[in-house]
Amino acid sequence: MTPDRRDQAVRAAMAQGLLGPDAEPVIALVDIAGIRAGAASLRAAFEQVTDAPVLHAFAVKAAPLVGVLRLLGSEGLGAEVASPGELALARAAGIPASRIVLDSPAKTPGELRTALDLGIAVNTDNAQELDRIDAMIGAAGEGGAARAPGGSDGSGRSAGAAGGSAGAAAPPSPASTLGLRVNAQIGAGAIGALSTATATSKFGVGLRDEGAREWIVRAFLDRPWLTRLHTHSGSQGLPLELMAAGVRTVYELAEEINAAAGRQQVDTLDIGGGLPVDFTSDEETPGFADYTRVLEREVPGLFDGRYGLVTEFGRALTAKHGLVLARVEYAKRTGNRPIALTHAGVQVATRTVYAPGAWPVRIAAYDADGRPRTGPDVVQDIAGPACFAGDLLAEARGLPLLEQGDVVAALDTGAYYFTSHYAYNSLVRPAVYGFRAAAGGRDGDVEFSLVRDSQTMEEIVAESGGAHPDALL
Ligand SMILES: *Cc1c(COP(=O)(O)O)cnc(C)c1O
Repeated sequence: MTPDRRDQAVRAAMAQGLLGPDAEPVIALVDIAGIRAGAASLRAAFEQVTDAPVLHAFAVKAAPLVGVLRLLGSEGLGAEVASPGELALARAAGIPASRIVLDSPAKTPGELRTALDLGIAVNTDNAQELDRIDAMIGAAGEGGAARAPGGSDGSGRSAGAAGGSAGAAAPPSPASTLGLRVNAQIGAGAIGALSTATATSKFGVGLRDEGAREWIVRAFLDRPWLTRLHTHSGSQGLPLELMAAGVRTVYELAEEINAAAGRQQVDTLDIGGGLPVDFTSDEETPGFADYTRVLEREVPGLFDGRYGLVTEFGRALTAKHGLVLARVEYAKRTGNRPIALTHAGVQVATRTVYAPGAWPVRIAAYDADGRPRTGPDVVQDIAGPACFAGDLLAEARGLPLLEQGDVVAALDTGAYYFTSHYAYNSLVRPAVYGFRAAAGGRDGDVEFSLVRDSQTMEEIVAESGGAHPDALL
């Protein structure tokens, strides 16, 4: 989102009364054109380097909003889901099963069965999960209900429905495309909690563990319907070279499996997401094309057309295209520190509040009419509404001095912020609006469309057991 577009959106939001003393105290905005442009740049980056089919499955956890998923779906993207809730959102958004990938590390038998029934691609996490799938597929076969191999949409070879391993002697194959998640164990990035390729990360089969490589090759040879390898080395804080090293590791494993099988059994590589976002400026760097260039250099062969590809980007697709707007309810001074008490805190910026070192957010200051505040920088705290002292969006930040009734914008919060609401203090989930240039309007006219209502008090009570008030009497 360029600063100009952001300023226009904030001005219009105030002029149209979306935020104010008699309206909502906090809202979130998403930039429709920006999200479309991000999706287009992702597609273009891969189209430039390969003719292979590529499914770009948006990581739903980054922005679990039906409207956002549908917008991305209209740009040709699919959905990477990791829970029944995320799957329900993807389906509500109309994402076809052939474009959905299920990745959770703790799938229940019921979730696996649903995925197989729907024909959704599944990346298994571990040996026990493979055993479960063996049993399910075997059961289908014994019941005479052996399913057609390959994808369910009949579209032939596409990354969304790649594969098929029909052979006279092959056991019954599931409708879903099935893969195995591998932890390339290439090491951590800058943020430990988001590094999934450490030696002991909880995700996938640790490739460098003793005997693991041989076990994986055997597991594939024993299961002709296992046709994918998946890796995702982490989110935010990983250098592109480290991400590419993870992909290279899995590519080499695929080559080894295919050599052992004597055929292209692994026909699709799911390379995960993880492109980092610059939270310190308006730059959208690195871009998707920067990453595909690194992949081209570090993993020769990846793009030569033998492998279909799946990507699972989340943050890099939406972070820069969303922001939180909150009113300054009070502006006070304590211990000689100016403090703006706003309505945006831990409920919409959970990671920032609990781990401010790893997740600083930029704040922009506006007056009550939505005009950018100017003036000398004054060191001040931007506090949230929650009842604990650490609920600060920014501590000792230099900004034009905020006054009562002003508006603060928390920038680059379109992924994992207001969409990952935290229910502390029973603070309501804020409304989310999409914005775009008004059709036929004057330059700078902005129109809004509601993506998500703010939560009602009835919903808060219902979520908190309102239907069972006497449960403990
Ligand atoms: C979270 C996650 C992603 C998305 O990561 P981003 O950093 O948001 O791109 C992709 N794949 C898997 C398996 C994930 O857990």
